[in-house]
Amino acid sequence: MNDVFTYKLEDLLYINLTNSCTNSCSFCIRDKCDGLGGNNLWLERSPTASEIISRIPEPLLYPEIVFCGFGEPTMRLDVLKEVAKYLKDKGGITRLNTNGHGNIINKRDIVPELKGLIDIVSVSLNAGTKEEYDRICSPKLPNAFEAVTDFIEKSAKTLPRTVATVVRVPGEDLDIEKARRLATKLGAEFRIRDYE
Ligand code: SF4
Repeated sequence: MNDVFTYKLEDLLYINLTNSCTNSCSFCIRDKCDGLGGNNLWLERSPTASEIISRIPEPLLYPEIVFCGFGEPTMRLDVLKEVAKYLKDKGGITRLNTNGHGNIINKRDIVPELKGLIDIVSVSLNAGTKEEYDRICSPKLPNAFEAVTDFIEKSAKTLPRTVATVVRVPGEDLDIEKARRLATKLGAEFRIRDYE
């Protein structure tokens, strides 16, 4: 059974919460390989909170513990929150890597629920306009770009650190400066990730 619920990359620990996602990005690593760092991240089933917790007896061993998934972690919000509470109670530093659809996935504003549980939120903004976003990310939910920008703005107001990211893909026609201006307007930091 494939049960890579957690894995280490460099010195960080990553939590593979789910393989489900509400986007279908043109650069998604899931279309190109089965995982990262030699780990096959396609799961036969999603982990429970206690299964993840049992694999992280010492959270302080890592500078950050990252909720990611080979998918969108806010699709498993209850598990995310339970594990994050355990990690914070032990003094760990938590990061959420998200596509920013958490509020439309869960049909409510989830940002206040992350307060005290998540230290850093990294949101895939991916574009400076709705047209670009829809072209690059092919979202499966309506009004996804609006949801992402709203999530970033709420997160930047509520949580300690919010970073909006774009992926620089060779040959992709993307107005990165427009995305940077949007991220700044929303109150977030901005980071360009290079496509690998
Ligand atoms: S949001 Fe992330 S996991 Fe989902 S399709 Fe895009 S790159 Fe892949």
